[in-house]
Amino acid sequence: MPESIASLTAIVGPLKEAIVVFDDKHQPLLVNASFRKWLDPNQDLNDPLLLCTQKRGSIAFDLQGWLKQATQNLTQTLWLKIPNRSLRIPVQLQRHTFNADQIEHSLVVLHDLTLKIQLDAQERLMNASFAGQFITDGQGIITQPNYAFCAYTGLSAEQLKSMTYIQWLQKQVSFKVPFDSIMRALIDEQNWSGEVQIFASKEAQFNAILSLSMLMDEHQNIEHIIGVLQDITDILDAQSEISQLAYYDKLTGLANRTLIQDRIEKVIEACQSEQTFGTLFFIDLDGFKIINDTFGHNAGDQLLVQVTEKLLPLVGNKATLARLSGDEFMVLCPNSTQDRDVALQDALAFGSKLLDAIDSRYKIEQHSVHSAASIGICIFPIAEDQLQSRSDQIISYADMAMSEAKKLGGNQTYLFEKSLIEEAKQRLELIEALNHSELDDEFQIYFQAQVDKDGETISAETLLRWFHPELGFVSPAKFIPVAEEGRQIIKIGLWVMHKAFLQAKAWNKKYRPIRIAINISPIQFHEQSFIELIIGLMKFTQVDPRTITLELTEGVLIRNSKLALQKIQHLVSLGFEVSIDDFGTGYSSLSYLQKLPIHELKIDQSFIAQVPGNLDDEAIVDSIIQLASTKNLKIVAEGVETKAQSDFLIQKSPDVLLQGFLYSRPLPAIDFEERYIKPYQATEKTA
Ligand code: C2E
Ligand code: CA
Ligand code: CA
Repeated sequence: MPESIASLTAIVGPLKEAIVVFDDKHQPLLVNASFRKWLDPNQDLNDPLLLCTQKRGSIAFDLQGWLKQATQNLTQTLWLKIPNRSLRIPVQLQRHTFNADQIEHSLVVLHDLTLKIQLDAQERLMNASFAGQFITDGQGIITQPNYAFCAYTGLSAEQLKSMTYIQWLQKQVSFKVPFDSIMRALIDEQNWSGEVQIFASKEAQFNAILSLSMLMDEHQNIEHIIGVLQDITDILDAQSEISQLAYYDKLTGLANRTLIQDRIEKVIEACQSEQTFGTLFFIDLDGFKIINDTFGHNAGDQLLVQVTEKLLPLVGNKATLARLSGDEFMVLCPNSTQDRDVALQDALAFGSKLLDAIDSRYKIEQHSVHSAASIGICIFPIAEDQLQSRSDQIISYADMAMSEAKKLGGNQTYLFEKSLIEEAKQRLELIEALNHSELDDEFQIYFQAQVDKDGETISAETLLRWFHPELGFVSPAKFIPVAEEGRQIIKIGLWVMHKAFLQAKAWNKKYRPIRIAINISPIQFHEQSFIELIIGLMKFTQVDPRTITLELTEGVLIRNSKLALQKIQHLVSLGFEVSIDDFGTGYSSLSYLQKLPIHELKIDQSFIAQVPGNLDDEAIVDSIIQLASTKNLKIVAEGVETKAQSDFLIQKSPDVLLQGFLYSRPLPAIDFEERYIKPYQATEKTA
């Protein structure tokens, strides 16, 4: 090797770039260490070095060949094929010629592009991401912001590259935790991540998750800071939509059951720790079902929204107004006082405000309807409550109180008291017992005489008796409402009719004419198949319908009165007589009486109880009797217990039929037969 080349070896040997020196025959004279690193140790340097134009392309040319022809540098990236190693190294070629010892040599520099290509790929990767990303250098200056990051921040890559990441944080980021805690986490744990708000501009503010990571070298110097920014506006929107669905009522936008339960729990806890009292109001609209059934669900919905609008201003923002379902609302007033009496006074006063607000007329579509509410009030914690009531119990207590308000006629408040729990328990027992009762074993029909002014039994009312093996005698006043609610009354009522028909037929055939009255529950009456069932029973028992009176209450006629009228007409055309039971207690609109083909009015016992003497009741009894006589209806007075009562009634109307303890208690069929039917066989005087 000529001396000049040897000295060249000393120069290029340690250079970082890969270098090959060729002689004028284009034979490699020397390669430096950086070049040799790529090669197999056994590589013969005289073998041609192959270059490809594509990373995976197969078209190759040899370096020596290029040196022979080319006078210019190749600027494009080429791939150096390393023999025996399936490796291609991206390079850019640079050729320098020089004279040494009168020979023209070529010095070829192969710039290794591996790192650059990796960085390019990394940048492309970064730019393909929807998340904003940046990388800083060791000084914290942003060197690589990706497209998304520029877009989120509204800053150009140039602007960002003139900032440190700290400067950017201070300019656009609002943290929910103190800044030094973030820096501490970065230094101690090399990363931090959390929710932030980005203030890119006045218009572009959004919530994001920002993650910062610190890359250190082996000497614990900061090499890079890597930042990732993720817009979470959509996620937050979806979350709030989900919570809206989960915690709020769709129709009214009020809190729903889940949310109010949660709030009640919190108030209970506060009450326990502060020895205070909270109040829950359970509001149920009166007659909502009728409005819904008559005008449709849309109208019902409108009513609910209007009620909400009336209640919201009253409730304010300290208390919570919620809608449970249907027409049930609740108001939760948080704990305010340690004095139960004060809580009570406040609750009653607020309850009547709620009542007043709801009690009004509402314009719905083209109709104007009246609505009012029944409100149950529960002040909690309940005194010496061992159960440590939770929210669902408090709700059920307020609900029980609301039912009491309903029972008393609605449009009023009722304060929860512990005895209601016992009553509710008994109701549950009754429901259980009813569901398992054997009609023929446990039930019996009794008869109570209805007599004329001479004391002669003209007819009898069928009254149901239930003797439960464990509960003992259960009054119909108790179990009939429960059986109506659970609809067991349909089966029970059919059973009563069957028995009563058979009894009526037997007595009429064997002894003498006697009319039998049977109570028909509204639930039974409104059953679709009621008429068919009764016709079936008629045929089956062969009873003469002209000996049967069906007692209906006024309530029957309110609901769906057109259909009710048709049903009554049908019953009458079959031969039955129809009586209006408990007359005077219901909707005393007498206009509907005009249309009804009925035969009898039964004056409710509440009016009989205080006559003679109570002038109001006397007047009512008088007017009912008047009405009956103008319409040519029979009249029955029930609950007659004294001679004075019967005298009064007979004096008002000699045709009145009298029913009550003065004449007879309800009796089993056998006893009734012995005392009121057999002895009077001869007279044959019936209604
Ligand atoms: P109701 O139809 O008004 O029956 C009259 C109630 O007054 C009966 O109560 C009867 O025992 C009672 N009573 C009769 N005379 C007197 C009296 O002089 N003084 C007093 N204080 N009470 C008197 P009961 O048998 O307890 O029945 C209660 C209610 O249960 C009945 O009221 C009726 O609504 C219902 N009920 C009874 N049996 C049946 C039935 O078979 N079907 C249906 N759906 N309801 C029935
Ligand atoms: Ca009756
Ligand atoms: Ca009655």
